[in-house]
Amino acid sequence: MNRRRSAAATIAALLVLATAPLFLPEFYVTLLNYIGLASIVAVGLVLLTGVGGLTSFGQAAFVGIGAYTTAYLTTAHGLSPWLALPVGLLLTAGAALFLGFITLRLSGHYLPLGTIAWGIAIYFLFGNLQFLGKHSGIAEIPPLNLLGWPLIDGRDIFYLIWPITLLSLLAVRNLLDSRSGRAIRALRTRSTMAESFGVDTRRLKIIIFLHAALLASLSGWLYAHFLRYVSPSPFGINASIDYLFMAVIGGSAYVWGAVLGAGILTLLKEWLKEILPRLLDHSGNYEIVVFGLLIVLMLHRTRDGIAPFFVRLLPADDKRAPPTRAEPLPSRAQPQKGELLLEVRQVTKRFAALAAVADLSFEVKAGEILGLIGPNGAGKSTMFNLATGVLPANDGSILFRGERIDAMPTSDIAKLGIGRTFQHVNILPRMSVLENVALGAHLRGRAGVIAASLRLDRAEEERLFAEAARQIERVDLAASMYASAGSLPLGSQRLVEIARALSADPVLLLLDEPAAGLRHREKAVLADLLRKLRHGGMTILLVEHDMEFVMGLVDRIVVMNFGVKLAEGAPRSIQANPAVVEAYLGGVA
Ligand code: ADP
Ligand code: MG
Repeated sequence: MNRRRSAAATIAALLVLATAPLFLPEFYVTLLNYIGLASIVAVGLVLLTGVGGLTSFGQAAFVGIGAYTTAYLTTAHGLSPWLALPVGLLLTAGAALFLGFITLRLSGHYLPLGTIAWGIAIYFLFGNLQFLGKHSGIAEIPPLNLLGWPLIDGRDIFYLIWPITLLSLLAVRNLLDSRSGRAIRALRTRSTMAESFGVDTRRLKIIIFLHAALLASLSGWLYAHFLRYVSPSPFGINASIDYLFMAVIGGSAYVWGAVLGAGILTLLKEWLKEILPRLLDHSGNYEIVVFGLLIVLMLHRTRDGIAPFFVRLLPADDKRAPPTRAEPLPSRAQPQKGELLLEVRQVTKRFAALAAVADLSFEVKAGEILGLIGPNGAGKSTMFNLATGVLPANDGSILFRGERIDAMPTSDIAKLGIGRTFQHVNILPRMSVLENVALGAHLRGRAGVIAASLRLDRAEEERLFAEAARQIERVDLAASMYASAGSLPLGSQRLVEIARALSADPVLLLLDEPAAGLRHREKAVLADLLRKLRHGGMTILLVEHDMEFVMGLVDRIVVMNFGVKLAEGAPRSIQANPAVVEAYLGGVA
């Protein structure tokens, strides 16, 4: 029912848009064209900045590369605009890859500063190159020709600009709703987690940077043939900031927020330009001041932009249909029981003067549950981070199935079959439980960004979701499958983490205090699940604080205290070990 209503609303909106040039005055059609052009750039920023968390102040420079390439090639060399488009996109891709490799390595404040620097550099290049007409730019750019029909009038090119705008929105929406999209949504706040499931975050950052740059360039190409004149000024840092505002104001996490932001900003500027001189009784660029104030106010009132406000007015989306019985994903062969899986050899990790892990050695064999216990601050979580490549060790070596892993990137270690959970729950709270868990199966899919944008990944997505659903049922969370993960109680969120790790089809499962926050009965259910997993051949390294929980469950125990190994053995012998009792009582005191 809701689905039909939202389909009807979409069709109605498209009809209004499609017929707008027939009844609107020319001035408003021109404004709509500008909104469409800006939306294409802004949706790239929704992807890059809003979702991916990478702020670029240089987006207008990419618009400029697209615009100047076609302006130059069509005027100086008589090339067809349709051939100049791929040239512009290629040039943009080259520039974006070059700049991306340099600036995306920078973190924190340096990334925005870096993008400002190259944004300004490219802008000055436009203004200083003789063949680009210096500050007077390039005029008499030919109009676009669509199947023999020249798009001279604003009303004509409207029918090219807006379909391209809508397709850009659709492609970005499709991308975000995919295997790569889930990884992109994790980039901003959960990149360590994503890497633990095999996501190559550096590559992904470059990809979304490139994606946003190409959209900007496409907009620039359209702009050049719409205005039929280019000069440096619309491609400067001011314009870049406007694009950022559009993405942020619209609602940087919503794809169509880009249109909303572009619309609001464009209309607001126009309106202020008209009304302010009348109100103030003399002219001047006051609109820029008032505009700035309004933006600050808007950001202050609605931190997530304006889109969430509209989302509440829209009919709620139907829940995604439950995954059907898709063909199961191929799974890894489990190792022979007793095979040496993890070898930790004299590993040391220092934080300044503190040795969080000191000369620690132990082994994990296939088919066992090894408990790693110790008081708070003993170094257990640090050990997990060393074994998963999140932290580098200062000394010693770690091997997995005979292969050194202590210098490997986290995402490569994940590929070998180590799945993990985090002590401090590392989920994406706004994403559904199902999607969170599906992220765990990242390495079991292959569809790339292009396939996802074109929706060619549906069969594989079905299989990934079916697998995620199976793991969710396994941890007994089926009732919460479609709830946002953040709405669940902490204990259930830990189960989401376990289901996510299981989706990766691991050989070795590292669980960091999975029972913390669970109630007594839930702990019993969890213990049951871990026993079942062991029975199925899974090997588990379990960090736990709760002695009682560990004792009845694990095969062997390694006790840590102040980074060193205090004892190792069967649960019974550990329980009777005076040094262990002392450490634990000391810890409590
Ligand atoms: P456990 O998981 O056993 O409770 P941790 O491995 O979290 O212990 O911490 C071990 C010690 O290392 C603690 O003293 C903690 O404060 C310190 N520590 C952990 N991570 C860091 C870090 N990133 N920087 C500095 N000190 C850290
Ligand atoms: Mg810990």
